[in-house]
Amino acid sequence: MTLLLIYCGVLGLAIGSFLNVVIYRVPRHLSIVRPGSACPVCSRPIAARDNIPVISWIVLGGRCRGCHSPISMRYPLVELTTAGLFAVTAWRVGAHLDLVAFLILDAALLALALIDVEMLLLPRSIVYPTLVAVGTVFLATAALQHQWHRLLVAALCSLAWFTVFFVMNLISPRSLGFGDVRLSAVLGLALGWWGVGEVILGFFLSNLVGAVVGVTLIATQKMRRDQPVPYGVFLAIGTVLTVLVGPLLLSHWHHWPST
Ligand SMILES: [Zn+2]
Repeated sequence: MTLLLIYCGVLGLAIGSFLNVVIYRVPRHLSIVRPGSACPVCSRPIAARDNIPVISWIVLGGRCRGCHSPISMRYPLVELTTAGLFAVTAWRVGAHLDLVAFLILDAALLALALIDVEMLLLPRSIVYPTLVAVGTVFLATAALQHQWHRLLVAALCSLAWFTVFFVMNLISPRSLGFGDVRLSAVLGLALGWWGVGEVILGFFLSNLVGAVVGVTLIATQKMRRDQPVPYGVFLAIGTVLTVLVGPLLLSHWHHWPST
């Protein structure tokens, strides 16, 4: 288990480094492959030795090797957060095939949350591949371990959450964007894999986090009442929380089989 956690943590650092590229380039419709990373100030290409997650940032003192302009703390923070998320998810899910789906979910939700905060956008080019990837891992798990019932529940939960949000979007398109509707299909699928209780809990926790943050921001006058909220952030937090502590919270009213 310790080995799995270390492996997932290190993998998280590398994926986090890639997410930094995704978070900046995808909403700006830039290629995530070309060109290679460069300093935004002096355009000096970032060499491989300066591209080691977290370590390079510390070695360089948070500054570009060429022009010494500061590099945002956000880069190492995203890398560390991804590593932490990957490690706790590995601890929660264990060494099973479906762990791959939940690591993909972690990475996608972190990228989407940060893009949503910055640009109020949940890019389709992240949501759809995530849906396909998570669905494919579940399909493979179902086929190999004869968990077809679990896959069916997950698919129905995905459809259910999507339908609820689709209707909410029809009623009030301003408070719930279609990006959230698309994302809900991914969340329903991933949480439905654990069970219907998890889906309801995820929905509840997302809105609870949203309400607490919203009320706090309005009360402290950091946000106006009519300002659009990055709802995707709350959905991401609520979903990750549910994956990690769902069985603990639900165990009071539901006996949870360990899978
Ligand atoms: Zn520079």
